[in-house]
Amino acid sequence: MNKINFMGEFKDSALEESFQNEKWTSVRFRFLFLYFVTIVTYLAGGYSDYADLGFGSEFHTILVGRVCACLLGVLAFILLLTDKARLKVQYLFMALCMFSLLAAESLELMVKFTDIGSLSVPVTVFIVLAYYILLPLRIIPPFIAAVCGSVIYLTALSVVLPVHSGTFVNSTIYLFLANAFGAFFLYSFGRSSRREYAAMEDLKKLVAVDELTGVYSRRKVLEAGDCLFKSARRFDNKLSVLMMDIDHFKRVNDEYGHYVGDEVLKETAKRCSEVLREVDHFGRLGGEEFLVILPHSGVHDGIKVAERLRSSIREQMFQVGEAYLAVSVSIGVAELRGHEDFKNLIQEADEQLYRAKKCGRDLVSPARFKIVKQTQIG
Ligand code: GH3
Ligand code: MG
Ligand code: MG
Repeated sequence: MNKINFMGEFKDSALEESFQNEKWTSVRFRFLFLYFVTIVTYLAGGYSDYADLGFGSEFHTILVGRVCACLLGVLAFILLLTDKARLKVQYLFMALCMFSLLAAESLELMVKFTDIGSLSVPVTVFIVLAYYILLPLRIIPPFIAAVCGSVIYLTALSVVLPVHSGTFVNSTIYLFLANAFGAFFLYSFGRSSRREYAAMEDLKKLVAVDELTGVYSRRKVLEAGDCLFKSARRFDNKLSVLMMDIDHFKRVNDEYGHYVGDEVLKETAKRCSEVLREVDHFGRLGGEEFLVILPHSGVHDGIKVAERLRSSIREQMFQVGEAYLAVSVSIGVAELRGHEDFKNLIQEADEQLYRAKKCGRDLVSPARFKIVKQTQIG
């Protein structure tokens, strides 16, 4: 998929950010678990050091490594728990934790090699795999930490073992495999979950946006309206809706064809969008019918906005190819009063629209007042 770059992330940084933010909850939970288990087992490991080495200087050396790794783990755990730090900082700590664990393992290996032999290799491989398999959203931080940590570990191993020995070669292979397998797993899983996310986003867009005009779809605008209706009623705010319909649109189709009809729909939506505020909601209900929702606006504001919309359509002819068309719209306005639900409110706006149509079209009809303006139909 050409949306994804060579690191398995979205090329579009905004899309990548929204993907990371959406998935962060589950990654955060997995890493909280990982840090917690690591801190507890790492501290408990101190007891086995004590059993092997007693309270000597060797024990203290390993303890320093363990405490450093645990402190980083605790810090990362707190950062994750409070979830205040930015993702970049979280990833930095994730990488530092992984690296410090591998460094602590290297230290333990050098000090306790005579007691444990190469037994710490599986633990190291496990640490590497655990970080990859818990699926952080980015591959670079764990990869760099794991590779650097593995190199340090192998360097430590080379101090206690001849490099050409079978154990050394095997350990190198295991660590190489753990990194290769983990990185590949993370990369391919990251790609497929991003593909899934992109498909879901496309689907959401498809459902929310009217394909022809680019404004909200019927479903989206009704959903938004329902939400705004509930909130306005709950907090006693004003709310008004406008039901808008293009006049004699069938004639446009009949005289100029469907293509021109479509262009008129697009231009109508464009002109209206330019008039409306960012907080207003505007969608196509179907055919040549549009719905506008005006939060914090009463019927007077609604009428004003409707008049502005009507003028923006009426004032300038629509040009489609060679053709110039005089287009007009009729608009019904309704304000939230004692309506039971949003459907009732738009029903009232629809009745007003019907009134505007009956009174001659190219008109705004308010819900409670008389027709406010009537102009000559061209
Ligand atoms: P009125 O002034 O009473 O609203 O009359 P009208 O002709 O606008 O209304 P009517 O409901 O009779 O016709 C609407 C037309 O809109 C009929 C239909 O073919 C056309 N239409 C619906 N959806 C689309 C579309 O997506 N593109 C085009 N080009 N036409 C559409
Ligand atoms: Mg119409
Ligand atoms: Mg209609």
